[in-house]
Amino acid sequence: MADIFKGYKGRALDLLKSYNVRVWSQAVIKTTRGDFKGIILPRSEFDDDRHIVLKIASGYNVGIDVDTILDMIEEGYKEAHYKIPEKEFPFSEDKPNVKLFGTGGTIASRLDYRTGAVIPAFSPGELYGAVPELADICNLTTEKLFAVFSENMGPQQYTKLAVSIGKEIEKGIDGIVIGHGTDTMHHTASALAFMIQKPPVPIVMVGSQRSSDRPSSDAALNLMHATKAAAESDIAEVMVCMFGPTSDEYGLLHSGCRVRKMHSSYRSTFRTLGDIPLAMIDREKITPLRRNYNRRRGDKNVTILPYFEEKVALIYYYPNMMPDIIDALVDNGYKGIVIAGTGLGHVNKPVYPAVERATKAGVAIFMTVQTLWGFVHMFVYDTGRDLMSKGIIPAENMLPEVAYVKLGWALGQTGDLEKVKEIMLTPICDEITEREPYNGYLVFQGGIPEIEEFLKRIHK
Ligand code: ASP
Repeated sequence: MADIFKGYKGRALDLLKSYNVRVWSQAVIKTTRGDFKGIILPRSEFDDDRHIVLKIASGYNVGIDVDTILDMIEEGYKEAHYKIPEKEFPFSEDKPNVKLFGTGGTIASRLDYRTGAVIPAFSPGELYGAVPELADICNLTTEKLFAVFSENMGPQQYTKLAVSIGKEIEKGIDGIVIGHGTDTMHHTASALAFMIQKPPVPIVMVGSQRSSDRPSSDAALNLMHATKAAAESDIAEVMVCMFGPTSDEYGLLHSGCRVRKMHSSYRSTFRTLGDIPLAMIDREKITPLRRNYNRRRGDKNVTILPYFEEKVALIYYYPNMMPDIIDALVDNGYKGIVIAGTGLGHVNKPVYPAVERATKAGVAIFMTVQTLWGFVHMFVYDTGRDLMSKGIIPAENMLPEVAYVKLGWALGQTGDLEKVKEIMLTPICDEITEREPYNGYLVFQGGIPEIEEFLKRIHK
C-alpha cells in the first residue's frame, strides 16, 4: 500500500491520496499555472513534501508546487520497476578487479537510465542491472561511503576516502572509481592527489551532469569510461573522467590537480586548465594525449597522508574589497589564506595593511590568479612587489581551488611556515607546471575535433 505513493509525505502525500492518484500513473494535474500531463514519479526520502514530480513528454521532470494544485486526474497506470533488479555481478578470473566508492551526487541518486527509476543504493548487483556493460570491463565491487551532494564534501570526507582507497590498494586492487557530485569534484580530486602519494593504480573520479532518468543523461557512459580507465589505463594518477565534447563521442581523463568544472549545465563541463587532458577515452580504447604521467606499477605500495587544517580560506578578490575581510579571518584563527587575485596576482592598496598584519601574525598567504590560465607574476607591477614585501607568496600556476586544498593539506602536516612554503611550491601532481601549452587555452576549451568544426563554422 505504502509503495503506491512511494517517497511522498506531508501535503504532497495527502493530495495524492485525496485525488486517488498513484505513483507511476499517467496523470493530469490542473494548477493555477496551467495543466501538466505526465507520469507521477516517486520521490526519495530526502526530498521535500511540497512538490509532486511529473515526468513530462519531453523527458524532463517538473516539480509542481502543492499550493498551486486545483485538481488531479489519473488517466492510466503502468508500474515501472522502482528498484533495479539485482543481478549477480559476474566474476571472471581474467578481468581486472575494480573498486567503486560511492560518495553521492547525481550519479548515485538516479542511475537506471532505462527505466528512469530512482535507486537508493549502489550495490554491484544494482549497478550491473542498470549498466550491464560494466561486466565486460572488470570485476566490480562497490562500497557506499557517503550519500551527499558534493557541496557537503569536505576535509573529513577527503581523509576517509583517502584512507579507504589506501586500504584497497594495499589489498591489491587494479583500479579505483569514485562516484561523486560534479560541483566540487575538482576539490576532492586535488585533495586525493595530495593525500595519496604515488599510487600504483588509476584512481578515477566520475559523476554526471544530468540525472539518469533523463534521456540525455551522461551517467552510464561516464561510468563505463571511468571503469574502463580504472581497469585498463596505465595512468596511475588521480583523474576526473567526464564527457569531452557536448556529444557522447568520447570522454576525457583530466589530471586531478588541473581540472575544473567550467559550465553549470553542459555535460562537457570539466576542462583541463593550464595543460591538455591526460587522455581521450571511448568504449574501445584509451588514447593518451600526454606522456608525462605516473605509470601503473605491479606493486601495492602507496603512502597516504590524510591531513587537513580546516582553518584555511579562499578569497576571490573583487574591486573595493575591504581589509576587514582579511582581519576577520585572522581574528577567527585562520592559519592560511589563498587569494585569487586579478591579472598577474593583485589586490587593491587598502588591503595591503591587512595582509601585512596577517602575515606578521603567522598566517600563510598565497596568491593565485582569477584568470585561471597563466602564472602569478608579482615582479611586473608595483602592486605585486608591494604585496610580496608584505609576505604574500606567489603560487605559480596553481588553480585557486587547488591552492586552497593544498594549503589545507600542508598546514595539516606542519605549522612551520618555511616547511609550508616548501610543500606548497614543490609540484606533486601537475598542480604547478613548468609552462603551459602555447595558446592551449584557445585550443583545448572544447576538446579537439569539435574546435575544428567550430572554426569551420565561424570562418565559412
Ligand atoms: N549538485 C550535485 C553535486 O555536486 C550535482 C552533481 O551531482 O553533479 O552533488
